Amino acid sequence: MTKQRNSHLGGHLASDIFPIRKHLHKLKPYRNARQDFEGQASIWLDANENAWGGAHQGAYRRYPDPFSRDVRQELASLKGVSADAIFVGHGSDEVIDILVRLTCDPASSKILLSSPTYGMMAVSAAIHGVECVDIPLQGADYQLPVDALIDAMYQDPSIRMVYVCSPNNPTGTQWSTQDCQRLAKVASEQGIMMLLDEAYIDYAPRPSMAMDSFWGEMPTLVVMQTLSKAWGQAALRIGWAIAHPEFIDWMDKIKPPYSIAKPVQSLALDTLKDPSLLQKTIASTHTERARLLAELPGLQGVIHVFPTDANFILFRHSHAEQLYHWLTTHGIVVRDRRHEVSDALRVTIGTADENNAFLDALKSFNP
Ligand code: PMP
Repeated sequence: MTKQRNSHLGGHLASDIFPIRKHLHKLKPYRNARQDFEGQASIWLDANENAWGGAHQGAYRRYPDPFSRDVRQELASLKGVSADAIFVGHGSDEVIDILVRLTCDPASSKILLSSPTYGMMAVSAAIHGVECVDIPLQGADYQLPVDALIDAMYQDPSIRMVYVCSPNNPTGTQWSTQDCQRLAKVASEQGIMMLLDEAYIDYAPRPSMAMDSFWGEMPTLVVMQTLSKAWGQAALRIGWAIAHPEFIDWMDKIKPPYSIAKPVQSLALDTLKDPSLLQKTIASTHTERARLLAELPGLQGVIHVFPTDANFILFRHSHAEQLYHWLTTHGIVVRDRRHEVSDALRVTIGTADENNAFLDALKSFNP
């Protein structure tokens, strides 16, 4: 391993170690009306809202809580972290975008990642004119190249962010806690933000990396999760980051003022208050996943079934393209991943009936 390029932690304040773009230190964040006056009042004439109300009996005439405080509080107690360590965004996709805008300078900063992985990271980088340094997953079983990623963080001072998805989409497996911690420690030492995307964490065997206690040793670690997967609320567009409170403060400074709609905040709150449904769907997903994993390898044309810790299975098929079209003629749509992994299709775990239809169609495929 090569020499360290710098060491940010020695005696510095936490604020010095976050990779915040220089010009943002001078930013005067937008202050909305609800920040200027937070007390009690009976007549609100400060935010240019409509006094008569309009449709829906006026239920939506007021702007929503700009910081989704109730949702943050509920997430905090569920996740065992403090509420000031949580940022709520319009889906994880908005969280990714905000993190790039906060840390990366167009044309000069770089983002480190290992393909194949969730595509929106590279797209978000491209939108912002930020280059991705790709050190692909290694070997036939697509392992995370931890040592090479660490070397790159030491060697390339333009890397501002490292993206790790665990369980990884589209390959499916969760990386070891030890590997993630090694990466997060080096990233923090080097003043690089590490985004750990845990969109599929609720299906995975090992617990989340989000813990208040980590921010002593790994202050630049940002863990991202979502309501879109195991919680089953993709249409609400709610994702969140769990990170050092000072970093969350930075995210709040650059987010759009009233980004989460009021009905979405209350639906998200209702969702989080009933985790029993979450446990039920995780159990059903695991049962169906085990059934598909047992059946798929024996089917004609299936070359390889990747191990998975998520709610999908990546598999390689000798006639993947034809199979994809065959399935659509049966009204079944899977995801074609051949541009990332040769011969590969990705199937999301469905209900028992949906999976039976998928298996029946696959069994009747005869190219
Ligand atoms: N991360 C990963 C790994 C994903 O697969 C997805 C969506 N498929 C997202 C993030 C985006 O999630 P959200 O719906 O919260 O924007």
